[in-house]
Formats: sequence, structure tokens, C-alpha cells
Amino acid sequence: MKVVLVSGGSKGLGAGLVASFLDAGYKVATCSRTPNQQIEQWQQIYGNRFFFQTLDLSDTSGCREYVRNVQSQLGDIDILINNAGVAHTAVLALSDDASIDRIVDTNLKGTFQLSRIVSRPMLSLGWGRIINISSIVGLSGYRGLSVYSATKAGLDGFTRALARELGARNITVNSIAPGYLTTEMTDELNDRQRTQIIGRTPMGRMGTVEDVASTALFLASENADFITGQVLVVDGGISA
Ligand code: NAP
Repeated sequence: MKVVLVSGGSKGLGAGLVASFLDAGYKVATCSRTPNQQIEQWQQIYGNRFFFQTLDLSDTSGCREYVRNVQSQLGDIDILINNAGVAHTAVLALSDDASIDRIVDTNLKGTFQLSRIVSRPMLSLGWGRIINISSIVGLSGYRGLSVYSATKAGLDGFTRALARELGARNITVNSIAPGYLTTEMTDELNDRQRTQIIGRTPMGRMGTVEDVASTALFLASENADFITGQVLVVDGGISA
């Protein structure tokens, strides 16, 4: 039974990833800054196949302790999904230091930290999967999301470089770049923006967490042994 760590699994896409990997029989660890009812339910249903601990990814020593706890509860981590992320819509000229730091610390530094800590034991194991959740706005940009888009483009660069470092030890590193999903993060979109997005999407709808989770399950599987350093766009064709 393989062990997967999904950062930011309390809600949204992360919760969809946790649910899909639990359904598929994996042992799953997740974290977020605050627990919620969903976490309690998984603890009750899945017992020692599920592990949760509160963690702020910007706390480096907290990340180390968290990974140690995951290992002692579930075993060696085979798959890391760097999902936790934050967005804040503001034109750059009006954005403040605190919000820039928060976006960079979570989306980029949090991913670097967890990947650094988890890749060490993966190197010894000689097998692993790292999946970074980026975004199509890292490829295309979006007005009001310049800092967020930069962090997502940065993640894709990180993916390509880390894939080169780790490939020889049978560890693949890929990004999934979702389009617009129906999660809390897109609550900020107004009806006009939502209608525009759907109108520009060949598949005629926004994405669901399941659309992305099925791609993550594929990348985590042995069917994806020879895929590394890639950015897989899952967006219903909006960026095609
Ligand atoms: P969401 O609903 O806001 O969920 C974000 C998750 O990350 C929550 O569990 C949150 O829990 C956790 N988190 C945030 N900051 C954290 C921190 N510092 N430390 C630990 N956990 C933290 O967002 P989402 O829409 O599911 O997005 C998930 C990922 O998909 C993000 O990387 C996002 O950029 C990407 N994405 C989303 C969309 C979309 O349309 N929604 C599109 C493309 C890509 P706490 O707040 O309790 O910490």
C-alpha cells in the first residue's frame, strides 16, 4: 500500500485528491493550517490509513517535524503532491508586502521545503513521484494575478529542473496545470467572469476536482513511469 502526502487537503482540490487516493487504496497524509469536519470524518472512516496534522507550510521546522510524523504513522512517503496554494486578486500596483510574501511563501517556498525533505528518503528508496499543482495562469497570465501567476510559472520551472536531478533514481516530477475549477479559490470570480470562462472553454464547463484527481492518480501510477519534467494541462481546452 503506497503512501501519498497531499499538502492542503482540508478543502477544495486538496480534499478531492485526498478522497480519490483514499478510494484508490492508498495511505494518505495531509495538512492544512486549520482542521475541519471533513478531516474528522476521514479520521473516523479510515483510521490508521489516514493522517492529518495542522501545519503552516511557511514554518520550515514544522515541515520537518510533520514529515517525520507522517513517516512514523504511515511509513515512507512514495508520492508527494504539492497542492496547498493561496491566491489574492489585486493589481500589482495596489498589492502590499504581506500578501506578496504570503503567496510566495506558500506556493513556492512551501513546495521547495516539502520537496527537499521528502525527496531525501525517496532517493534512498529509489522510487518516487512528486506532483506539483500549478495553474494555466502560470502559462498564460491573468489580470490581477501577477504574483500568483509568477509562483505557478516558477513551480513549472522547479518541476523541470528537479526532474533532471531525480530521474536517475526513478523519481518522476511533474506539474499539473488546472484551468478554472469550482472550488473556494474561484469564489472571487463574478458571474460575468464565470460565463466568459465557460464560453471560452471548448468542453463548455469549469473543471472539477475529480478532473484533476484522475490525472494525479495516473501520474502517481506505474503507467506514468516514463513521464517526467512535464506540465500536464487539465483545462477543458481553454488554453488550446
Ligand atoms: P482552496 O480551496 O483555497 O484550498 C487550499 C488548501 O491549502 C486548503 O486546504 C488550505 O487550508 C491549504 N493551505 C493554504 N495555505 C496553507 C499553508 N500556508 N500551509 C498549509 N496549508 C495551506 O484552494 P484550491 O482551489 O483547492 O487550490 C488548490 C491548488 O490548486 C492551489 O495550489 C491552487 O493554486 C491550484 N489551482 C486552483 C485552481 C482553481 O480554480 N481553484 C486552478 C488552478 C490551480 P488552510 O487555509 O486551513 O491552511
